[in-house]
Amino acid sequence: MMMVALLLVLAGVIWMRSVGLPRIPLSHPEAAEQPMVAPAAKQLEAPQPIAIDRTAQVVVLGYHRFVEKVRRPDTEITPADFEAQMKTLKAKGIEVISLADFAAWRRGEKSIPPASAIIAIDDGYRQAYDVAWPILKQLGYPFAVFIYTDYVRGGPKSGGGSMSWEQLAELRDAGVEIESHTISHADLTHRKTAPNGQDYETWLWKELAGSKALLEQKLGIKVTAVALPYGRSSETVREVAARAGYEMIFTVNGGKLGFDTPPDALGRFMLDSSKPKIFSTAIAFDRGGSDGTATAIPSQLLDLQPADGAMIRELRPLIRANLNPFGAIETDSVALRISGIGTVPAAFDPGTGVVTSQMSQDLRPASYTAIVSARVDGRKLEARWQFTVESSNRAAGSIGSP
Ligand SMILES: [Zn+2]
Repeated sequence: MMMVALLLVLAGVIWMRSVGLPRIPLSHPEAAEQPMVAPAAKQLEAPQPIAIDRTAQVVVLGYHRFVEKVRRPDTEITPADFEAQMKTLKAKGIEVISLADFAAWRRGEKSIPPASAIIAIDDGYRQAYDVAWPILKQLGYPFAVFIYTDYVRGGPKSGGGSMSWEQLAELRDAGVEIESHTISHADLTHRKTAPNGQDYETWLWKELAGSKALLEQKLGIKVTAVALPYGRSSETVREVAARAGYEMIFTVNGGKLGFDTPPDALGRFMLDSSKPKIFSTAIAFDRGGSDGTATAIPSQLLDLQPADGAMIRELRPLIRANLNPFGAIETDSVALRISGIGTVPAAFDPGTGVVTSQMSQDLRPASYTAIVSARVDGRKLEARWQFTVESSNRAAGSIGSP
């Protein structure tokens, strides 16, 4: 048994290296052996503009227990059904990403695929270790476990089904993200839950900050996310969780997560074996463009020239937009249109992500709408903005005054 476990760990480590999953900094015992030169050398490289697709969508799939015989469909799934769901993601072109990828994307530091999923396993049942981990490992999927610390083996609420701290450490070493699900798993909005006359906010702080601190100290990690028990949330709960240092606060209210979804109300789809529709809804991504409609990109992201709303005097202005926020643009798909004129010749530089067009005919004094569009991963994206060409005989003093 020990031998098998050891082999699994070894396989996990080798697999992790081969697919290049992000290592958890400093928490890994081998971190000290990493050559110190590499990171320093990296900093010397010129910073590259990162193409980030801000229209990507992320779905979080939440699971609890993995059992051959389902008695509680709301929290249990058979290993075969779980594996089938995981393979469906691959078949549908939905890429599984880590919480760290999700957070980095939202900080503007890296791009993620347009349809992404995060796998979350709640509570700390050892089936996450015994059953789910081998399946996810095989598929090369990262995942996160949300632990309520009272349930870890040896804790006041633990039982035969609990994971141990040693098992959690093995998951950590394999790159699995370990996050908080509070200490006691009580409904945090329920003020009466605070034991024996304890002040509600003191208790809340313990549940949120205390579970984070315990996981961090026991495992030598940084905990960045909390899954609120039963998804129950209130303004006070969100405020205390943010103060406790959580970057991501998850509930259970489904929904696709986007670049701008509030970090303290990140919904998750909790799977239910008796309701297959939850899974099918979760993995139905709206990939704009299949019906010809374009997904709008906010124009303020594009470093526009003329700026949105600008009043200009030049009759032959240079039109310019930085399309990096679109993501990886397909060659020759960039088009620029000006109202009253139509498509204008535009030069797109894939290196800088900048599209420019020098007007070769005079624009008559009027307001213009510019529309820039491009295809990214088969989807059509577009942004639009407006500018006004002013009549040159207007008094100079009036320009730009609102
Ligand atoms: Zn739970």
